This record gives sequence, C-alpha cells and structure tokens, in this order.
Amino acid sequence: MSDANPYALLFEPVRIGPVTARNRFYQVPHCTGLGHVRPRADAAVRGMKAEGGWAVVSNQETEIHPTSDLSPYAEGRLWDERDIPALRLMTDAVHAHGALAAIQLAHNGNHAQNLLTRAPVLAPSEMSIDTSQPKQAQAMDKADIREFRRWHRDAALRARDAGFDIIYVYAGHNMTLAHHFMLPHMNQRSDEYGGSLENRVRLTRELLEDTHEAVGGSCAVAFRFAIDEMMGADGMQAAEEGRAVVELLSDLPDLWDVNVANWSNDSATTRFQPEDGYQNAFLSHVKQMTRKPVVGVGRLTSPDMMLSMVKKGIVDLIGAARPSIADPFIPKKIEEGRVDEIRECIGCNICVSSDNLGIPIRCTQNPTMGEEWRRGWHPEIIAPKESDAETLVIGGGPAGLECAMQLARRGYQVTLAEASSEFGGRVAKESRLPGLAAWSRVADHRLNDLKQRGNVQLFTDSRLDGEQVAELGIEHVFVATGCHWRKDGIGRSTQRHPTIIASDAEVLTPDDILNGTLPPEGPVTIYDDDHIYLAGVIAEKLATAGYQVIFVTPESLVSAYAVNTLEQSHIQARLIELGVDIRCNQVLTALQSDVARIGCAFTGRETDFPCASTVLVTERRRETALYNTLKGAGLKTLELIGDAASPGLIVDAVFAGHRAARDFERPKAEADKDWFRREIIDLAEDAS
Ligand code: ADP
Ligand code: SF4
Repeated sequence: MSDANPYALLFEPVRIGPVTARNRFYQVPHCTGLGHVRPRADAAVRGMKAEGGWAVVSNQETEIHPTSDLSPYAEGRLWDERDIPALRLMTDAVHAHGALAAIQLAHNGNHAQNLLTRAPVLAPSEMSIDTSQPKQAQAMDKADIREFRRWHRDAALRARDAGFDIIYVYAGHNMTLAHHFMLPHMNQRSDEYGGSLENRVRLTRELLEDTHEAVGGSCAVAFRFAIDEMMGADGMQAAEEGRAVVELLSDLPDLWDVNVANWSNDSATTRFQPEDGYQNAFLSHVKQMTRKPVVGVGRLTSPDMMLSMVKKGIVDLIGAARPSIADPFIPKKIEEGRVDEIRECIGCNICVSSDNLGIPIRCTQNPTMGEEWRRGWHPEIIAPKESDAETLVIGGGPAGLECAMQLARRGYQVTLAEASSEFGGRVAKESRLPGLAAWSRVADHRLNDLKQRGNVQLFTDSRLDGEQVAELGIEHVFVATGCHWRKDGIGRSTQRHPTIIASDAEVLTPDDILNGTLPPEGPVTIYDDDHIYLAGVIAEKLATAGYQVIFVTPESLVSAYAVNTLEQSHIQARLIELGVDIRCNQVLTALQSDVARIGCAFTGRETDFPCASTVLVTERRRETALYNTLKGAGLKTLELIGDAASPGLIVDAVFAGHRAARDFERPKAEADKDWFRREIIDLAEDAS
C-alpha cells in the first residue's frame, strides 16, 4: 500500500500473543444462523471476510459441552472431536486468504436451554433460566466447577486441532458462565467463587490460565468482556467494577475484546444509538490498564473514525461484526483508496434477527451475505453480461436501485425510471422518521454507484405507463413499483371482520405520514397490525410532535416482531416515556368521526375511547397495474420484483432486485432447478 494512503496506520500489523494480525481490522465473533447446522455456508461467510482483507475472522459463540446446548439456534458446536471437521472448513477458508481464525468458546450457563440434550442447566447459584422456558438452573458445586474447567480446556485443545489461531474466553452479553459468576445478582455464593469481585473473577482467571497452559504456545488467548451492562448502578459499570476487572486481569489475556452488555446494547440499532463509535466512552480507559492489544466495536464504518480511535489510543484493533456483514471488503476498499465504495451498515439488525429466527444470515445492505456458498454469490464479483440487451427498470426504490446497479455492473445498458422527484422509494421516506436517518444509505450507496457508470440513464419525475414503455422500445423490463398501505381496515387481525369505518372517520395510512401529512388536532389512534417497526416509529414521531397517541395492537407487545432485532424493549420503553397510551391484545373493530372501538383479542369484549383520527398500519397492496398492462406487450423479459411482487422488509426488496439481476439471461431451467445448495444430513450409519 502506498504511504500516501491517509489510512496507512490501519494497515500496521499487530502482535497478539504468539500470532500476528496482518492489519488492524478484526471481525469480532458474530452469529450467522449457520453455525454447526450449515457449516459449509458458515465457512464461506468467514472466508469472504478474509478475502475482503480482515486480519482476524472470528466464528460465533461455540458450545463447548452438551450442558451448553443452544438448540434450536445454529451456533458453533465443539462438544467433542467429531465437531472438528466442520470447524476445519472455516479455518481453512480463512487461512486461504492469509487471515487468522478465532473461535469464541462458550459455556452459556443459565442462558442454555439444553432442549436437545435435556441436561441440567448450570449456574453459579440456583435461579430460573434466562429464557421463557419453565426451567431452573442448579448451582454448581466445586466438582462441577472443576468439570467445567476441564471441558473448557479440552475444547481449547480441540479448537487448536481445528486450526484456530485465537481462542476466546468469553464473559459477555450476560450469556456465559464466566460472566454470570462475575455479576453479583447472579452469583450469591459464599465460597471462594462468590462475594468479593476478586472471588467472582476467580473462575475467569482460571479459564484464562487453563487456556494459556493448554494452547498458549501456539494460539493467542483472547478475552471478550462486557465492561458495562448499561444499567447504571443496577449493573456492572465501566467506571467501577468493569474497570476493576480489567485491573485484576490486566496482562493475563493476549487480547482484550471489550464491549457492553446486554446484546441489545452491544448490537444497538441506529434508532437507539445513531452514532458510529457509540461504545467509545466505555472503552477509552482500558488501554491504560493493560499492555495487551485492545479491540472495540460500535458499528464502525467510517475510516476517519477508525483512524482517530487508533490515534487517540482507544483501541489497537478495529472491531466489527455488522459493518463486516454489510461490507466484507471494507479493509480492501480502504487499502485501495475506494472508501466511497464502502457499503455502510444501516444498523437495522435484520442480520441479528436471522440468528434469533434460526435461519441463515441476511443483510439489508449486502444481499450476498449468507448466499456465498449456497448460491455462489460474491459481494464484489458478478457474471458479465450475456448479450448487448438493453434493460429498463421501473421504480427506484430499494428493489429497483439494486436491480439496476447489478445489471449495470454486469455491463448491460440500464434505464431506471422513477415516478417521484427522488430515488429511494420507501427508504428515502422512512429515513426521515425519528432515528432512521442512516437507512438512506441503502439508496445513497446504490445511487452513488449508478451515477458513475456510463451505461446507465437515470430519470426521476417519470411515472411510466404502458404506452411510454412501448415508446422506449426496451424489451427487457423489471417492474419494481412497490406497494401502498391499505385504508380499508383489512389486515391480519381483521380478515374475518374488517374494521367498520364510518364515512366521516378521519383515517390516514403510513403513506400519508411518510408524505408529510399530519393528522388533525386531537387524539390519534395508531393501529399496528404489522408488528415490526413502522407503527412504533410513527407513534414516536407523532407523540414527539405533541399529539396524544393511543397505540393499539392485537399483539401482547408493542412492535412485537422487533424482539428479533433486539429493539422491542427499547421501543416500548420509549413510547411509555413519551406518554403514549398503549393498548395491547386489542383489535380495532370500528371507527367513527370521534370514537374508536376496540375489542379484546381473546374475549371480544369491546371498549370505546375518544379519538379524532386513526393511522392504520395494517397491510399493503401491491402496485401491479403497470405490470399487468405490460403482460400483453410481448416483451422478451417482464419481471415483477420487490414489494410489488411480495410486500416485505427492505432486506427482501434488495434481495429480490439482486437475484433478478443475477438471473437475467440465465437459462431458465438452470435457475429453476438450482434455487440454492443445501447441506443435507448424512444418513450413513457411521456418520453419527
Ligand atoms: P421496493 O421496496 O420494492 O423497491 P418501493 O415502494 O420502495 O418498493 O419503491 C417503488 C418505487 O417505484 C417508488 O419510488 C415509486 O415512486 C416508484 N413507481 C411506482 N410506480 C411507478 C411507475 N409507473 N413508473 C416509475 N416509477 C414508479
Ligand atoms: Fe447492518 Fe442491517 Fe446489514 Fe445487519 S442487516 S449488517 S444491521 S445493514
């Protein structure tokens, strides 16, 4: 790399115990929903990061023993030597591109439900397990602790044999035994493992010493530590016990990987932590208390922020999970002076939701994430065009923009026509809602790319109809015209009995709010039959603007689906703080000009309350009129994509646009047959 690169400091090697990272880019452990269930796909995800220039690529938390069984989730597994070959796929993939492979060993204590193994759950003290399973954990006695240390040591040896260079001891996210022993509310022991901080840290110290002793000569021993629970005096605080833990263990680990707990605070969404580098305040003093390298995270996508963190002595290594998912090639792009090509994470946590749903990882910004092995997709490489065909993409939302960009990258001539005065469709509008500004990156990244290409023509203020499409004479057409919200009271909960809406009732939809219309004065009801973010964020907007807001949902939580993106509790807390009147388990049955009627979702018992207007966040109708017109036009290609084909999340629209562009001019028989590769269970008897 040339010395003129302003980010040269980020490409200095860093020694970590017995191994050396080739630069400062460190992919910290993160889940993929692939893990031990889909090891080939997982290895391909990790290999892609190494190819993209990361110096260290970690896997996800890896169960060390059947008493730490995270089923049904697809995490790593290293119960015995039979798990080594699957992990070897990953270390080989990472080493093939010159990076170091790290493994996050974990015993999840009372966070493991042990649903597959039916083993007793272990914890420092007797307590309920921390999921909703009706189960309690047993307090570990001294023999259990000795056994646990042996399991951890054996797992470290197996990890070394699987080819890992860095082996983690993990005390973070309130999810592992090492962390549980440290936290006073979970550790009520009266022996040498309980009471004083020194006693509560004893187990972690032993794990670090055991791991050094077992593999120290060949592997580095990293320590992942949640320095602050972000609960003020109710939990561990970076300035108090968090700091004391660093002092106590100081130079014992070869690397400090420091973050905050719980997971929803560590992987905070842009809505609740809008700034990149939001964990810096918790990190800043760690380096003063250890001579070992420190890695930190905080949705770091800006090279300037990364540089300043190293220069200020906050970290030695730039940690990333989500930024490396959104763009596995961040290091390469910075190294090659292509900073403007970075596909920045928008902090939406759709990737996190995949893990929580037990499905392969997906990413709003990077549609190839999770598809490296099963579809053979590469984030930076796409097949060149098959012909000189000209293409027309109608609709410039996330689906249309992605489709146009990938067609253009393949070398096709692309015309992109957008009806409104700006590109971006729903992301342009939704990014103007509170806390969602970063979502505009979905459009910005693609527009920036498209504007630099000579084979692209971009048109706004161009609502096309069938005649105009015919006049253009382009025979390959992708229709990405999106959808609009229903106003008729029909939704998931009202399919049998649609909400009865009086003709003089004031009804709005999210489209009205997104287009800048505000409800009339007076109390406004928001009916959420959609259950992810939109109704909640509209409630926030209107409550902040001074409206009296009544939030009605048939679910038992506000924005219930947002449990999967780790936002639900934050959303509900925010609405409560804003004074929103929350009515869960209620179906909207009728609306009149000044009254709303809701019925209990279980008993049907009805209640009325005064309201001047209602925002219905129920279902969407697809914009298919133009597509239907074009069906008879004899076009060579006519494909409906994105929300116009199937209303969903932004991630779905981007994926649809990407897939359509990849499959364009691919033989149909091949595309139909080859949806994706699967990792099929080996039924051979000796495969158990
Ligand atoms: P998606 O998420 O599938 O990309 P969006 O609703 O975000 O869907 O975007 C669809 C875009 O298509 C909107 O910006 C809309 O203005 C545009 N659009 C709809 N109908 C037409 C049309 N006939 N011609 C051009 N653009 C259209
Ligand atoms: Fe970032 Fe969203 Fe992609 Fe996750 S899904 S990496 S939060 S853009």
